[in-house]
Amino acid sequence: MAPQIGTFDIAIAGGGPAGSVAAVLLTRAGFRVALATLPPRGPRYEGMSSRVAAILARHGLPLEGIGPAAQRHVSWGAFQGGQNSEHLADRSAFDAGLLGAAQDAGVSVTYAAVSSVRPNAGEIRLADGQRLSARLLLEARGRRAPRKSSDRDRADLVGPDTISVAGFAPPQAGGIETPRIEARPDGWVWSVPVKRDCLWLQAVGSAATLGRKGGKAALAALWGTVLSDIPLPARPSVHAIAPRLAAPDLDPLCPRLGDAAVALDPLSGHGMFWAVSSALMAVPIARALLAGEAELARDFYRNRVAETFWRQARVGRDFYREAGFSTSFWQQRAAWPDDTPAHDTDIYPHVSKRVVVQDGFLARREVLITRDAPGGAAFTAGQEIVPLLRRLTGQPLPDAARFHSTVLPEAPPQAARAIHQWLLSQGFTEGAQIPWDTTNRETDSCNYNPAA
Ligand SMILES: Cc1cc2nc3c(=O)[nH]c(=O)nc-3n(C[C@H](O)[C@H](O)[C@H](O)COP(=O)(O)OP(=O)(O)OC[C@H]3O[C@@H](n4cnc5c(N)ncnc54)[C@H](O)[C@@H]3O)c2cc1C
Repeated sequence: MAPQIGTFDIAIAGGGPAGSVAAVLLTRAGFRVALATLPPRGPRYEGMSSRVAAILARHGLPLEGIGPAAQRHVSWGAFQGGQNSEHLADRSAFDAGLLGAAQDAGVSVTYAAVSSVRPNAGEIRLADGQRLSARLLLEARGRRAPRKSSDRDRADLVGPDTISVAGFAPPQAGGIETPRIEARPDGWVWSVPVKRDCLWLQAVGSAATLGRKGGKAALAALWGTVLSDIPLPARPSVHAIAPRLAAPDLDPLCPRLGDAAVALDPLSGHGMFWAVSSALMAVPIARALLAGEAELARDFYRNRVAETFWRQARVGRDFYREAGFSTSFWQQRAAWPDDTPAHDTDIYPHVSKRVVVQDGFLARREVLITRDAPGGAAFTAGQEIVPLLRRLTGQPLPDAARFHSTVLPEAPPQAARAIHQWLLSQGFTEGAQIPWDTTNRETDSCNYNPAA
């Protein structure tokens, strides 16, 4: 029998942002947590949105390797100019900082390769023969997490085969100050200044351009189709980056987090946000599963995972369409996953039941579904929305002062004003009848449609 490192409540395979943030939060919630991972391998740079930095700061988590926000220059079809801003993320330093925080929080961190995750045995096997035993396992090995054989054949859950090749390059004329993203005829390019006189340059192209050659010749071929004017970096960092819904359904013995569940197109700039927000759901999911409430956990997971995947896949498709090229690289990505609008503009406000997080636990609640909140909104400004709206049924929405005095007299005025404001932002109009009914039009809380 393989030697056992220890017995834990929860053992996690993989210590990228999803695994290590989940490990910290689970430990803080009182669980005994072990994490096994390969150490960060550098160098690698990405763009981090301010909201990821804000979530981490809110949870007292380190932001090592994260630079100040810089405006991104975009050259994408008809759009040329500054758009959004992003923080440069040195992923090795960032991941190492989070793993350090996990160790400081009391997580048992083992730096070793995981050879297998065995949900039925409740153990993670390491390549050196040791094992971690736990009541619950979490799979967070990113894109390297094996897919379940039942999901592997479903072509609709994987986007066009795409490769990213990146590395250090000398600055290009005019491009050194800010991050830049540029659509080119056979792919796209992201570049960001990382040191004085040094860029991190990432070329993204179709896997088909790798051809039959192997090794560096194949990489040079792909690189050349996107960036023919610049030589391939000396030590290129290569990743397969097709978007993928790896696990639409929850395994109650081994939930997946981050890229191991849904891996997004890096173009979305949403990958780290998803990794960190999926780590935030680890505590309520673990509590539900360890308390025997697998149904709640299943519904919650399925909704979050499916919503993230389909929305990001369709938003990405629209972005590819805007590039204005008609080569096969762009045609394929502009056609995937389907023609369904990314944002359903026909949603009529209505009530449905969803599993939500309330005070750190999962609970089935009535939520309000609107155009802006297609996944359902349960709370705003600390108030449960649907019971509040029931108080208004049949009456027009009053102005903010009367809303406070007649509908929410128990709340402080600022809270009542914030809720009133939120209702207006969702399309309700002051003085008009509330255009919705409270009948529950959806009984199934799953919005994952495999046929979509
Ligand atoms: C080229 C590229 C560019 C990207 N650019 C951006 C961007 O600009 N902005 C953005 O938000 N997102 C970007 N992403 C997405 C982002 O990197 C991921 O979404 C995010 O890292 C997912 O975090 P994770 O923790 O789920 O997985 P990962 O970060 O992949 O972490 C998985 C961890 O598991 C470990 N591991 C894997 N296999 C084993 C094993 N067998 N044994 C032990 N440990 C193992 C790995 O070493 C790693 O530490 C990009 C992704 C790629 C590939």
